[in-house]
Parts: sequence; C-alpha cells; structure tokens
Amino acid sequence: MNKIVTIILILFVSLPQQDSDNLKKLTGQYANPKNALEQDAQAALEKMQKAALKDGIQIRLVSGYRSFNRQREIWNRKYDKYTAQGLKPDAIFDKIVEYSTVPGTSRHHWGTDMDLIDGAVKVSGDVLVPDKYHGKGPFCKFKDWMENHATTYGFELVYTMSEQRTGFKYEPWHYSYVPLSRKRYNDYLTQVDLLPFLRSQNIKGMDKISDARLKRYLEEHIKGVNPVLKNN
Ligand SMILES: [Zn+2]
Repeated sequence: MNKIVTIILILFVSLPQQDSDNLKKLTGQYANPKNALEQDAQAALEKMQKAALKDGIQIRLVSGYRSFNRQREIWNRKYDKYTAQGLKPDAIFDKIVEYSTVPGTSRHHWGTDMDLIDGAVKVSGDVLVPDKYHGKGPFCKFKDWMENHATTYGFELVYTMSEQRTGFKYEPWHYSYVPLSRKRYNDYLTQVDLLPFLRSQNIKGMDKISDARLKRYLEEHIKGVNPVLKNN
C-alpha cells in the first residue's frame, strides 16, 4: 500500500466516530428500533410457533429487541434505587448484573434473542421466574417441548443451568436464534472496545467502576453463555 494512503487510513480510523455510529457498532442496533426481532429470527420463530401449536403450546414472545436507551433507563433507575439504600458503586454493580445487563452489552440489543413463555396456560404474578418452568410450574410442558425441538428451528437456551457457566443466573425463558447471534457475538467480542464506550454513554456508576471489574464482567457475564452460541 502506498504511504499516503496508509497515513490517510490511519488518520481516518483514529478519528473519533459519532456516538450513534459507535452505538450501532457496539450494540448491533438497526435503523428501525421498533423491530421486535431480526427478520430471519422472526421467520424461524413463526415456524416453531406453528409446530408447537400442534402440540398445544402457544409460544409467546415476551421480550425481543430492546434498545440501548431502554436498557440505560432500567440500569439508571436501579442504580438510583441502590444508591438511596446506601450501597457503594461496586456493590451496586454486582447487584444489578445478577439479572440485568450493562447497557450496550445486552443480547436483546441484537434482535436475535428473546424471552419466551407458553401463552396457552393461565399464570399469575411474574412470568419470567425459573419456578414457572420447573416442578409443577405452568411452563413445564413448554420447556420439555423446547428441549426436544428448539434446536431444529435454530434456537438455543443462552443462560443454561450448567455449573460450568459463569455470569447471569439461569434463565429458562431466554432463547437465541443461533444462525444470526453466533456471528453477532463473535463480531461483538472482536470489534468492540467496550470500556471506553461504556464510560462515555451516561450510564450511572461507570465513572466509579474499576477497569478490572468491567473486564471481569466481560469475561464472566458476556462470555458466560451456552458454548453452542460461540463456536463457528
Ligand atoms: Zn432475555
């Protein structure tokens, strides 16, 4: 490559990009934030729903795509709540990431991941709790069906019960459409400079959390997924 071109390229890649471009690259968000799911994921879900219906299960999407801004609202609200209770930033961080993601790191930003229940059964209270999927819970039939059929349609559980898995707690409702999300995951980890991004997005507490703590979150939480979601 000629020298001038090289210099121009270096200048270009080292220029600070617009926040919105960064956001798109880092979260995989698309222009239409109202898309509940990526098109292919939506089509695969519909196929699976039709098949499940024949067995009396109405697979229902509770949560699909979630925007960065929405996740930041959730995060900042929780942060304020725990601050008011007198918790220190590190403790608040650990508490929130038991179940919620740091904005910009949610797989729900990708439009490939979704929370599912069985709409055919009556339930009371919160639906996304493990007890509903186990023992005599209302979603046991759904869970059994998914264990036998989800893979056929390209879906896999992300936060499994495996003891080898680190990070987020077990979520029997959170499925990922692997043909799309596997690439997104690998791109995310190789193309993303996560720490400076998180510190520049008005996410509460990010100026007080150490690099080491954030790197541990990346290792334990972001990479703490079902191994079938990682390999090409
Ligand atoms: Zn989820």
